[in-house]
Amino acid sequence: MTEPDHPNAPTAIAANIAAVKARMAAACARAGRDPASVGLVAVSKTHPPEAVAAALAAGQLLFGENRVQEAERKFPALRAAHPGLRLHLIGALQTNKARDAVRVADVIESLDRPKLASAIAEAMQKEGRRPGLLVQVNTGDEPQKAGCPREEADGFIRLCRDELGLPVEGLMCIPPVDTDPRPHFAWLAALAARHGLATLSMGMSGDYEIAIEEGATLVRVGTAIFGKRDYPAG
Ligand SMILES: *Cc1c(COP(=O)(O)O)cnc(C)c1O
Repeated sequence: MTEPDHPNAPTAIAANIAAVKARMAAACARAGRDPASVGLVAVSKTHPPEAVAAALAAGQLLFGENRVQEAERKFPALRAAHPGLRLHLIGALQTNKARDAVRVADVIESLDRPKLASAIAEAMQKEGRRPGLLVQVNTGDEPQKAGCPREEADGFIRLCRDELGLPVEGLMCIPPVDTDPRPHFAWLAALAARHGLATLSMGMSGDYEIAIEEGATLVRVGTAIFGKRDYPAG
């Protein structure tokens, strides 16, 4: 973020994306990985459609939002203008929002409990639309945090795939703050390997390079692209 502009200015956003991509490529090189094997989810929550448009102008097509309603407000118009745009929902999801989520998202990264899995399965049938799904695991088993408890992850993945027939593509986690994230990333990678799941969404602005070293195929980066958020997003 070396641009003199306000962090939300289009030139700054383009420069930030380029800088993040360069660091991603360097992390891939260190880990002996193909840079094409890691996707960048630009997390645009709380930022205006103009910020998303600036990222789109810089060639970024993959975005993440936390809240269904914010996604519904911001994205339909942008999608119409950019058919290649893809949207991931990455925030905790209420069961009564499952249908809206299925309608608006290309991937839902926060599948974390049986009730939500059933609601999503039903919503997919009603909507005739099947976004990809990632199971979110609470790798730190933090009581206040969303995500399936570690102990239950194997069983929950099997329930989603085998009993509900859901299109589970991979796993997602948000490690506890102020701890070394690496063991959390490694644990999630091992769980994915055990289940033959290809997608691993892990790593945010502060730790995406470590996540790439540990096998992330998606990193979710907000602040390092769009600047600080003025208000918190749930
Ligand atoms: C906000 C958010 C991010 C992005 O966080 P930054 O630290 O701003 O990069 C990534 N993942 C999830 C689930 C988030 O809620």
